[in-house]
Amino acid sequence: MFYQVQLPYSYEALEPHVDALTMETHYSKHHATYTKNLNDAAEKAGLSHLGIEELMSSLETVTDQGLRTALRNNSGGFYNHNLYFSTMSPNGGGQPTGEFGEIFLKTFGSYEAFREQFTKLATGQFGSGWAWLSANKAGELKLSSSPNQDNPIIEKSGFIPILGIDVWEHAYYLKYKNLRPDYIKAYYEVIDWKTVAENYKAVVEG
Ligand code: MN
Repeated sequence: MFYQVQLPYSYEALEPHVDALTMETHYSKHHATYTKNLNDAAEKAGLSHLGIEELMSSLETVTDQGLRTALRNNSGGFYNHNLYFSTMSPNGGGQPTGEFGEIFLKTFGSYEAFREQFTKLATGQFGSGWAWLSANKAGELKLSSSPNQDNPIIEKSGFIPILGIDVWEHAYYLKYKNLRPDYIKAYYEVIDWKTVAENYKAVVEG
């Protein structure tokens, strides 16, 4: 069984950056549905015993095309939202610090340079999708974007996401309407860099 991450804050905790109604709908409806559909599809495919990363890496073993598509969309939807919700915090924002902060600066040159590139990817993802900050086992960092509920693991890029922004309209439309750039700007105020640094450590040491 796959379970939604426990939300580490209340629905209204990220106001005014992410509004309470969006949080509640996003977590208790959208994410809950991805999770339910993933569990149903994984059971049907006989893959319920796998860990989520292993499942996302084994999609090509599923011969039934409809089932494979359902697994791809819902494993991504489940995993991506667990990462998204757990890397935001009412005490978020600012810049990464410590050992991870040093690697981050070495990679991107400056926080502003990171922000510019990440914003460009998140804004430029046509239609629904995600923008990612990912790491590989060698400790390298990389930015990318994915359509739909895909991610760097499903794409077999060798990288594992440690931070991801959801740019599906359901993530911002209630508050920001068509203004995706305003939502992205607000998102930086709630990024939980401490958890992102822990995710980085887990990739490198895992
Ligand atoms: Mn979403």
